[in-house]
Amino acid sequence: MQRFQERTVLITGAASGIGRAAARRFAEEGAFLVLVDRNEAGLAETREALPAGSEALLRTVDVSDEHAVDALVAEVIEARGRIHALCNNAGIAGGDYSGITETDTDTWRNILNVNLLGPVFFTRAVGRHMREQGGGAIVNTASVAGIRSGAGGNAYSASKAAVINLTKTAACDLGQYNVRVNAICPGLIETGMTKPVFDYARERNKEEKLGSRCELRRYGRPHEIAAAMAFLASDDASYITGQALAVDGGNTAS
Ligand code: NAD
Repeated sequence: MQRFQERTVLITGAASGIGRAAARRFAEEGAFLVLVDRNEAGLAETREALPAGSEALLRTVDVSDEHAVDALVAEVIEARGRIHALCNNAGIAGGDYSGITETDTDTWRNILNVNLLGPVFFTRAVGRHMREQGGGAIVNTASVAGIRSGAGGNAYSASKAAVINLTKTAACDLGQYNVRVNAICPGLIETGMTKPVFDYARERNKEEKLGSRCELRRYGRPHEIAAAMAFLASDDASYITGQALAVDGGNTAS
């Protein structure tokens, strides 16, 4: 399938995990990639992992730096003319899980800066451009932690719930300009972010327990999230906007 032939797709958090899998998926489908992360070495590894002949621009940017985000978006539009799809995927995990009475203000600020303001800055800059170009698709990586409480640290869960609402608000603002905005809510996926969880379980021979909280009785793989991101970013989802799609093996079904 070549749903993204001659299309420019910007992916944040592309140096690892789900973002790297998304880069591969969009490249397989013909996209010109703009890969963004604060981890330069990881971005280079992602480029190595792309299919031969893939075209990609790599940019080391902190998504919580609004001026850097604006400059990057302007640079990409100047170079490519158009951004067809944006995947707001960069994120950080939930601090120390110590609970609402203990989590300190720096932890809250740090998580909200990256997980919420990062998508806000990119959606604002790219949304203006998509409005002018007459369309586009934005896919935000939220989490099941944004749907049900207790699934993550309190700051992380709140940030992801906010991303789901940002998705709906942006969809309402931009729908009239043919810009679709949707979110993916992954369940437990094996990535850099969840490595400590997997290491802990494996050291205790309890890996099968990691999948036990969902109906499919297994944890997920980054490519399974990437497939859903590509669907929502593609014309196959042309009448879908403002939705939060759980890709979680049924974790939130019960
Ligand atoms: P990951 O740690 O493997 O990848 C996250 C990437 O984001 C990293 O490359 C990191 O360098 C980048 N990043 C973090 N902060 C950044 C910043 N300020 N600026 C630029 N880049 C930054 O984790 P992942 O699991 O692939 O996470 C991708 C997204 O999926 C995140 O938004 C995460 O919250 C979400 N998610 C993951 C899971 C899971 O189980 N892995 C579940 C639900 C949601």
